[in-house]
Amino acid sequence: MNKLLIANWKMNPETLREAVRLARAEDLSGVVVAPPFVYLESAGKALRNAHLGAQDVSLSEPRAVTGEISPVMLKNLGVKFVIVGHSERRALGETDEMINKKVIAALKAGLKVVLCVGEPSRPMTRTKNYVKNQLEKDLAGLLKLKAKSSKLIIAYEPVWAIGTGTPDNPKTAAEMISYIKKLLKAKSLKLKAVKVLYGGSVTAKNSAGFFKRPEIDGALVGGASLNAKEFRKIWGNCFIKYGRV
Ligand code: PEP
Repeated sequence: MNKLLIANWKMNPETLREAVRLARAEDLSGVVVAPPFVYLESAGKALRNAHLGAQDVSLSEPRAVTGEISPVMLKNLGVKFVIVGHSERRALGETDEMINKKVIAALKAGLKVVLCVGEPSRPMTRTKNYVKNQLEKDLAGLLKLKAKSSKLIIAYEPVWAIGTGTPDNPKTAAEMISYIKKLLKAKSLKLKAVKVLYGGSVTAKNSAGFFKRPEIDGALVGGASLNAKEFRKIWGNCFIKYGRV
């Protein structure tokens, strides 16, 4: 399967000028650039090769809800991918029920969904149950929706590895990703060819270890995506060595 790299800028950078510069520097094939909402339009105009992604979306169709951004608004702005259920949003109070509504609303609007799942701590037995429970709740109703595998991407992101400088071991991450793929293929979902990415403290230095595993279909990169030079090295490790662009 072709690999995919997602640059999640989180609440960065501080100016539009820097955002456009970063978007131009990360405009690479096989990449999704996910800036904050306020930079989406300008970043989108700077991209020729990379796709535009949003970091979140409202759970409802357009109606009077102050401060929310609907899936249709994103779609009409040229957004192709949307991150849903990032652990930083879950920590702010987003529940699996809300995440499920976001997944469904975004898919109905024609966006590709990058659903983030991952455990707060190990051991592995507890981890598998935790992630299984998240997937069951977050993807409820997808079979009825007849969602296509190509419209869904899962980012397996152990919470303890995000922004800590302590990534998961590529072997364990690959084991978890195989497990997730098995769950997605089961009768209750029938999602056969979903890309599953790894996320959590990926850097230029450690990225090859993840990309060389065939089970790992790419990465969601946070902190390291704010440094274009570093991000381009990660891209090189991903696509020049291990994946097709
Ligand atoms: C993330 O934002 O999902 C992430 C994985 O961040 P970082 O790469 O900084 O750990």
